[in-house]
Formats: sequence, C-alpha cells, structure tokens
Amino acid sequence: MNTDTSRKLFERAVELMPGGVNSPVRAYRAVGGHPLFFQRGQGAHLVDADGNTYIDYVLSWGPLILGHANPAVVRAIGEAARDGTSFGAPCTAEIELADRLCQAMPSLERVRMVNSGTEAVMSAIRLGRAFTGRSRIIKFAGCYHGHADALLAQAGSGVATLSLPDSPGVPAGSVQDTLIARYNDIASVESLLDEYRGEVALVIVEPVAGNMGVVLPRPGFLQALRELTQAHDALLLFDEVLTGFRVGPGGAQAHYGVTPDLTTLGKVIGGGLPVGAFGGRRDIMAMLAPEGPVYQAGTLSGNPLAMRAGLATLRALEAPGTWDLLERAATAARDAIAEEAAAHGVPVQTAQVGSIFGFFFADGPVADWDHARTCDRTRYAAFFHAMLAQGVYLAPSPFEAAFVSTAHGEAEAERLRGAVRVALAG
Ligand code: PLP
Repeated sequence: MNTDTSRKLFERAVELMPGGVNSPVRAYRAVGGHPLFFQRGQGAHLVDADGNTYIDYVLSWGPLILGHANPAVVRAIGEAARDGTSFGAPCTAEIELADRLCQAMPSLERVRMVNSGTEAVMSAIRLGRAFTGRSRIIKFAGCYHGHADALLAQAGSGVATLSLPDSPGVPAGSVQDTLIARYNDIASVESLLDEYRGEVALVIVEPVAGNMGVVLPRPGFLQALRELTQAHDALLLFDEVLTGFRVGPGGAQAHYGVTPDLTTLGKVIGGGLPVGAFGGRRDIMAMLAPEGPVYQAGTLSGNPLAMRAGLATLRALEAPGTWDLLERAATAARDAIAEEAAAHGVPVQTAQVGSIFGFFFADGPVADWDHARTCDRTRYAAFFHAMLAQGVYLAPSPFEAAFVSTAHGEAEAERLRGAVRVALAG
C-alpha cells in the first residue's frame, strides 16, 4: 500500500509541530512508521491522503458512534453554523442536551458543559475537593483521565505508550495528593482509605478501563467502590468520558447498576466536536459558580455547534434496535479476533462491552495495569501494520480501546476477520 503522501506530509508536520502531531499517541511511536493523514471519512471508512480506504475501528478515539459524516450530524452542524457558531451566552441547545444527559443518567441531577474530557475531570475534581473539604484523591494505575497535572500519575494510554512514568513540568505538589490504587483490587483502595482516613475527597475510576487496553471491572468491584466511598464519606467519580453512551444508553453506571456521586462525560456527547461535561448530585453541583464558590468557566462552553451535533447523535441512538446493532458489531469484531487467534495458536485476551472492544496479546486474563503492561507489544506492532496493509485501521498502540459505530455492519466484520486471519498467519 502506497502511503508516500502521508509520509511527506508527516515530514513537513514534524518541522512545524512537536512530533508532527497535536496529540502524542497519533505519532505511531508504539508501532513504528509514520502516521497516516486522513482526507475524509464516510460511515465506517476512512480515506487517507494517498486515496487508500480503511475500515476505521478508532473512530476518533470513540466519539463517532454513528460513523464518519453521519448525515443527521452533518445537517445539525450546518444548521447550527448558519445560526451562529458561538454566543458566549445561553442557547436552547445546551438545555436540550443537558436534559437528555440527565434523563439518560439519573445520577446527573445537574450538569455543566465544558470543551474536553480533560476539562471535565479537572473541574469535577476541584468540585469534589471543595465539597468534601479534603485534598487527596485516589485513582487507579493505568486509568487515564486527561492531562491535568493532578492526574498525570500512572496514567495509562498515551503516557504508557511513551513510557513516561509521569511528566516533567508537573510539580511534585500537584500529584502529592494523588494516591494510586490497583484496578479491580478493592483491598488496595480499602488500605488507602484506611491509611488516609478522613483525607480522601474522592475516588475516580474508569468504570470500564479503556486506556490500558480494555479491562472490564470484575463483578462486584464497582459496587464495592460505592460502598467503601460511602463508608469513608468520600465521593465516587465515574469518568465516563469514554464509556458514556458507548457501553449503553445509560453508560457504565446503568450497565453495572452503580450510582456515582459525580460523572464526567465527553466524546460521544459532542458528536465529533470538542466537548465535555460533568455532573452529579444536586448538592455537590450547587457549589459551582455562580451558584456557589467553586470557580469554573469557559468561553466556548455549551457552544451551539457541539451541542447540536451531540443532540443529533443522541437522538439517532434512540432509534429502536440501535444498541443491539452496536453490540452485535462489537461482538463480531471481538469474536473474529478471538477465534482467528485461537485457530493460529496465538495467545490473545479479548474484552467487549456495548460498542467497545479490545484485545491483548497476552497469556492470562488481564485485570489491571500490571498485567496489561506485560502484553506482547512487539506482536501488536506487527499486527497493527499487517492490518493497516489490508485496509483495517486500529489504534497505533496496544493500550487503547477499539470502537464500532452504527455504520459497522456484517461486511466490515467479514473483512476484519479475513484481515486478522492473514495478519496472524504472516
Ligand atoms: N477520561 C477518559 C476516560 C478518557 O478516555 C479521556 C480521553 O481519552 C479523557 C478523560 C480526556 O478527554 P479529552 O481527550 O477530551 O481531554
């Protein structure tokens, strides 16, 4: 496959932007080679700068649950743009989107829109600390919550891909209140809560971990987190930036039947435009300015383009049968990888929930970051390139989730299976 145009574009990009990219994991450092530059996307497909077509299982890292350039979303964006792209003042669409989010996730009694997942998490943590009057937070190794200082400790995904344990430029003071527990290990949380009794403001968790590859919560893990946080008067924050409207219509919290105090959202709720949101209990959200003293603001927050793209997306997801379709597509992809790997004697661990799936080249079950990091990265890199050469675009890192959209049908699943067969045979 000829990707010379992408290569040349990348050579130019590295002269202008650090690493040639605007977000590190795009740079292919984990898999080698140069990134592809994409010209356009349509449905389940992407076309690169050389005119090659790929089935896309990255979908902009999750947001595009209706696929690329979905007509309803494109129409909504066009209409919104014609009406003015930003007012810096209230607009109707933000009420409508807020209402939909609160309906879908009853734990959201109030919500605030922001512009990215990072901003949502950063703001929710400030709020949680203010509400409890405590400073410490507990996060899990391998969970990523955006690049705010306090959260760049054992942060999975891009950070793991680059093998940076932390980031220079993050003052020690910013992470000194960040305690690290082990995913799926409730005892590790319990001992931190005991050791720092009365000091922990909140526990933040990806209810399905999607930034160390996909790691599902063990049965009872999220419930135990709920009980423990309550017992210690700490808040439970579900970071559903990735899982919200991906695991199912009510996010991971509905799927697993656990009600957090605070939730962060992003990705799908903006229909492919920059967005984030955080929300939760009314008494906590009431602390937010202007109702309360906790400051948080944004020039473009709740802007009509993102709101209307998000609304169009959430409306489309309500069509009967949509969630079954998504689940089938993700299961078909997961099965294709699991079955072909078994047929070729390649050890693989797969996971799937809702419209998300993932796989590790690893021998035993993967339950946390210590397991995940031992997966066979070299095999992943070879597999990634073999798939790319056959027109299947996966994440250029073994520590990312894969996604399907409503545009991923049986034809895509069959092509994926055929490509996996060839890639694993090679
Ligand atoms: N939280 C989770 C769980 C994420 O997966 C991500 C991004 O991948 C973020 C937060 C940060 O979101 P953003 O990239 O929009 O800042």
